[in-house]
Amino acid sequence: MKKIGVFTSGGDAPGMNAALRATVRWLSKHEVDVVGIMRGYAGMIDGEFVAMTPRSVANIIQRGGTILHTARSKAFMTPEGRSEAAKQLRKEGIEGLVAIGGDGTFRGAIKLIQEHRIPTVGVPGTIDNDLYGTDYTIGFDTAVNTALDAIDRIRDTAASHERVFFIEVMGRHAGFIALNVGMAGGAEVIALPEVPIGPEEVAEVIRSSEAKGKGSSIIVVAEGAYPGGADTLMKAAKEVYPFEGRVTVLGHIQRGGSPTAHDRILASRLGAAAAETLVGGSSGVMLGEVEGEIALTPLVDAVEKHKEIDKDVYRLAEILAE
Ligand code: ATP
Repeated sequence: MKKIGVFTSGGDAPGMNAALRATVRWLSKHEVDVVGIMRGYAGMIDGEFVAMTPRSVANIIQRGGTILHTARSKAFMTPEGRSEAAKQLRKEGIEGLVAIGGDGTFRGAIKLIQEHRIPTVGVPGTIDNDLYGTDYTIGFDTAVNTALDAIDRIRDTAASHERVFFIEVMGRHAGFIALNVGMAGGAEVIALPEVPIGPEEVAEVIRSSEAKGKGSSIIVVAEGAYPGGADTLMKAAKEVYPFEGRVTVLGHIQRGGSPTAHDRILASRLGAAAAETLVGGSSGVMLGEVEGEIALTPLVDAVEKHKEIDKDVYRLAEILAE
């Protein structure tokens, strides 16, 4: 391959820039031209292409977000939109793609491969950690640490005022962020989409925590753990057992910020491996890290197969909340 396109798509995640840097520099080192595609699939359709050199990705390893910008493209969901994207790629002489994003990005890539035979490999860049075929996605570790920092601060207030704090973290369908944040933050309750929990159980934990002499409690709630999120769950729990409670929704602060060392290293390894895999002739696969080793997973499996949360961690967090 002489010319490869790289883009970031879907929700931004800390470490996307580090992955981009690795892909660009690996390819440049191996004498392959690299084109940056702005704003994900939207920019692909509009032909927003920028020539990338090792210098274009200087000083970005530590930056959150993505210098290529990202977008959600409705047009790419249609066959006509994808045909236009393929036309633009061909016009530019782009022979293969490195797609950095989450499951939606990979669903789009699968269609581009099937319909237009454009070789594409995926790099898992999403804070959700919800992709099968990698122990961690790029951005997850940073998001967990950002949320944890917020919880540590809230804990000071919770303890001083003897209150119960409900903290809502991201995770509509997957509770990976909530589980890790809850474990690391010493939460009394962790509410996840995967393990249904109702207001009665939450109220009971708060009541028994008080009885054990705990002055304050931290309840971590994934967005999708209860209809209406943390606020509704708290109100419903108060109906069962009255307590002084407050809700904090962490929201978008979880997405931004400088990537952790873990995310930078993961992104560097996967970004380079993606370039190598594509140049080596593979397509339709996602690069991941499984038990410390680089692993290839078909894109179809990455998006269709279900990644389980670690129930042992969940049970241990419950025990340690004693
Ligand atoms: P995150 O998980 O962090 O939100 P994501 O990659 O899943 O990231 P999405 O917004 O779901 O983010 O997907 C990014 C883009 O991929 C969409 O805007 C759309 O253009 C394209 N896309 C998503 N699903 C499909 C699909 N089924 N077919 C074609 N294109 C798709």
